[in-house]
Amino acid sequence: MKTKLGLLYGGKSAEHSVSMQTALAVINALDFEKFEIHPVYITEQGQWVKGALLNGPVETVKQLEFSEGESVAPTALAPTLQTKGEKGSFDVIFPLLHGPNGEDGTVQGLLELLNLPYVGNGVLSSSAGMDKVIMKNIFAQAGLSQVNYSWFIRSDWERDSDTAYETVEKKLGYPCFVKPANLGSSVGISKCRNRKELEVAFQEAFQFDRKVIVEEGITAREVEIGVLGNDNPECSVAGEIVPKVDFYDYKAKYEDGNTALIIPAEITEQEYAMLKEMAVKAFKALDCSGLVRADFFLTKDGKAYINEVNTMPGFTPFSMFPLLWKHTDVDYPSLIERLVNLALERHEEKQ
Ligand code: ADP
Ligand code: MG
Ligand code: MG
Repeated sequence: MKTKLGLLYGGKSAEHSVSMQTALAVINALDFEKFEIHPVYITEQGQWVKGALLNGPVETVKQLEFSEGESVAPTALAPTLQTKGEKGSFDVIFPLLHGPNGEDGTVQGLLELLNLPYVGNGVLSSSAGMDKVIMKNIFAQAGLSQVNYSWFIRSDWERDSDTAYETVEKKLGYPCFVKPANLGSSVGISKCRNRKELEVAFQEAFQFDRKVIVEEGITAREVEIGVLGNDNPECSVAGEIVPKVDFYDYKAKYEDGNTALIIPAEITEQEYAMLKEMAVKAFKALDCSGLVRADFFLTKDGKAYINEVNTMPGFTPFSMFPLLWKHTDVDYPSLIERLVNLALERHEEKQ
């Protein structure tokens, strides 16, 4: 019996096109003898469209947009609420979605309600991981080292912006980073060197979110580790990103394609051991499942600070997370199968 795998991709998000590339790569990596692939495309307007069953490789992203497909309500993924042991139209769902409405617990909540097994993090870890303030508060509680930070709500800032700026200057100083609390892909993030830039950065970040986080700027290498598993997560080798611009902004991530990824990162055994321990601690602190990519700042004097975890990291074959696992002897098709199995295992445990 083939595994009926539902792929959710596209989405109403800044990362729509990245998700399409991921879907194309995942489909073509799957073994059609083992998997029956059911595509579900989410348009940029947020409409869900169910495509026909796929029996073979797909050549272009265009083929994954079913303009004439059947538009469905998200809840139609499971025709009725599935109960234990019942077989619906899917055995497992792989949400290949990033950012708000994909990686933030909303889709995960829908799949929970429908009682469908799904790849990756659950509602709690997804939503906590999407909000940089909540994530950092949880990491602080777990005793993980981080840069200093403060956060601000839009209405408070509108009422009294000077107090917000003074707090930043007193507590964090320059340079600092201003970020919308609930995004990814560096959208709305600015580096500030003075009050003028701080003001512009707040304006910018508040366009994306009602909550903004400001962090002390750090001069450090950026090193990342892939974590895979449920209750006993494993770590990949470490990788380093070397942005050729001032910081790893949206353009460097998706448009230039010339940010160097160094895998494995040239770090000492002790540094690697420390990062692995922190990565697992972060995974457990957020009660993650399936996968995360844990991102760190590593200073010259060997101190590590956790920057964030991404609960649905970039997942094209050229993205950091799959490349880290490739260098850890888990190739792309095996990685996908491991994730599917982890999803089924976690679902079983919950029943
Ligand atoms: P996102 O979730 O959008 O990836 P990040 O918090 O990872 O947001 O920030 C994006 C990039 O900005 C980082 O990869 C790094 O290059 C830079 N950056 C973010 N915060 C800091 C900081 N506190 N100090 C130095 N660089 C930072
Ligand atoms: Mg992120
Ligand atoms: Mg990041």
